[in-house]
Order: sequence, then structure tokens, then C-alpha cells
Amino acid sequence: MTTTYDPNNIFARILRGEIPNNTVLETDHALAFRDIHPQAPTHVLLIPKGPYVDFGHFVAEASAAEQAGFNAALDAVLKALELPAGFRVIANAGPDSNQEVPHFHLHILGGRNLGPLLP
Ligand code: 5GP
Repeated sequence: MTTTYDPNNIFARILRGEIPNNTVLETDHALAFRDIHPQAPTHVLLIPKGPYVDFGHFVAEASAAEQAGFNAALDAVLKALELPAGFRVIANAGPDSNQEVPHFHLHILGGRNLGPLLP
């Protein structure tokens, strides 16, 4: 199955610098920035720079260097955010998840007790 990436999705536009963002960390392979509608005191999105729709697409098609770079960026951003009481990492994929932006991203949430996974 071929996955089609929309190059005009909002995160692609952020990566091209067409829309401003509140950057936490940027590397060769990834960008971390604050969610515009935070669901917790800390709500950061981590995205790869390559054109991948969701986690499955990223794992299937990103190079080993891109995947290693993304994992390293996740480690670095978690260290930079300093969330000693813990955090939650979520990735939505597909219609059942209500994924809104079709560019693979991790939500990193913390800064308060997040309660059960689903309300
Ligand atoms: P999804 O539902 O796709 O997993 O999550 C998309 C997230 O992107 C949402 O939490 C939403 O608030 C965030 N978002 C949507 N548009 C923008 C934007 O233009 N800038 C930023 N920083 N976040 C956005």
C-alpha cells in the first residue's frame, strides 16, 4: 500500500518556516515545538523532518539514520523539558485516533498528574 503525504499539511508548513512555532529543540532530523492548544502545562510535539504521515509510515520508509536521529531527538527533548515526575508520549494514527495533522508526530505531555490514559 502506498501512503500519500500532503506537502501542505500544517506541520510541513511549519518545517518550511511558513508558519511560526515555539521551538523547543531542532536537529538535522527532527523539530520539537509547543502545541498551540496545550492539554497540560507541558505539551510539546516532536516531528521528523521527513514526509511521513504516521508512525507506521515512518517506521516503514524512514532511513535508519532518520529513525536514529528521531529517537535521539526524543531523548534530548525529554531531558530538556525536565519532567522529574513523569510524562506521557502519544502518537495518533488513522481515523479511529482522530489524528488531525497528517504528518507523524509525538505528543509529549507532562507538568501535572495526567490521570488515566482515556478520560
Ligand atoms: P493530532 O490530533 O494530529 O494528534 O494532534 C495535532 C496537534 O497539533 C493538536 O494538539 C493541535 O493543537 C496541534 N496544532 C494544530 N495546528 C497547530 C499549529 O499551527 N501550531 C502548533 N504549534 N500546533 C498545532
